[in-house]
Amino acid sequence: MRRAIVVGILIAAGALSMAAAAYQQPPAPSGPTPASLAATKIEKVKDNLYMITGSDPTDRSLFAGGNTGVLVTDTGVIVVDTKLAGWGQVLLDRIKTVTDKPVTTIINTHTHGDHTGSNNMFPATVEIIAHENTKANMEKMDAFKGDGAKGLPKKTYKDKMTLGSGKNRLDLYYFGRGHTNGDTWIIYPSLRVMQTGDMFAWKDAPLLDKANGGSGVEYAATVRKAVAAAGNVDTLIVGHSPLRTVAELKEYAQYMDDMVNEVKKAKAAGTSAKDAAASIDLTTKYKGYKKERQPAAVQVIYDELK
Ligand SMILES: [Zn+2]
Repeated sequence: MRRAIVVGILIAAGALSMAAAAYQQPPAPSGPTPASLAATKIEKVKDNLYMITGSDPTDRSLFAGGNTGVLVTDTGVIVVDTKLAGWGQVLLDRIKTVTDKPVTTIINTHTHGDHTGSNNMFPATVEIIAHENTKANMEKMDAFKGDGAKGLPKKTYKDKMTLGSGKNRLDLYYFGRGHTNGDTWIIYPSLRVMQTGDMFAWKDAPLLDKANGGSGVEYAATVRKAVAAAGNVDTLIVGHSPLRTVAELKEYAQYMDDMVNEVKKAKAAGTSAKDAAASIDLTTKYKGYKKERQPAAVQVIYDELK
C-alpha cells in the first residue's frame, strides 16, 4: 500500500516536470510569427525587379532571413535567396501579389540557412543555381542531407554565368573570398541593380565564416572587384538592410581595409585579439556604422594574419 502511494507520487511528479519542460520549450524556430510576417514585405526596386525584405538578425523575433530578390521575366520568376526554413509559402504569397508567373529558378548567394532555408519548399522542377563552392558548403549542412538533398543546387558556375537577355537578364559573378568562399554577386544590367548577398549585409563588421572559407584579409579586394564591375549600377540590394548605392559599397571596401590595417597594427604591437577588438573604433570615420560585430571579425582577421 505504502509502496503504491510512493510510486503514484513519483509518477505524478514525473508527469508534472514533463509538463513544465514542455511548457518552457520555446516554439519551434521554423516558420513565421505575426511580427516577422509583418516585417516581410514585397517592394518594387525597379520595373520587373522586386525585393522581399528580410530583417536585421539582431532581433530574432522579427527575423525571416536575408533580403530576397524577385526578377519577373517573360518566362517565369527568378528568386534570389529563400530566407529561413519555413518561409517558402510566404515568398510565394508575396510573389503572387505582383505576378501570376511561376517560380522557375532559385539562386542562392551563399550557403547560410537564412538565404537557403526554404529551397526545399519549392517544387523539384525549380532550377537551383549557386557558385560551385557554395554547393559544396551546402552539402555539409544537415538541412541538405537525405531527403533535403532536393534543395541543393543542380547548376553551378566558377567565375561568371549569364541568364536571360534584355530586362530578363542577370549576370552572376564570383569575385573571391569574403563572407564565405562562395559568395555570388548578381548584376541586373538593364535595370542597373546589383545584389550583394551578405558580402555587404549591413554597416558593421561582416560575419567572416571561417568554416566556410571566409576571409577578412581578402575581403576588401573582393569588394573592390565588385565595385569595378558595377560601373553602370545605381542601386544595390544588400544582405540584411535597405537599398544602398555603389558609393556606399566603395566605402565598405575602405572600411574593411582600415579594419585589417588596425588589426595588423595591434597584432604587431603585441595586443591580444580581445583588446584589439575593444580598442579599434572606426565608427567616427564611418558615419552610421556600428561595431557590434567587430569582436568576432577582429578575431578571425587576427587568426588569419600569421
Ligand atoms: Zn550569410
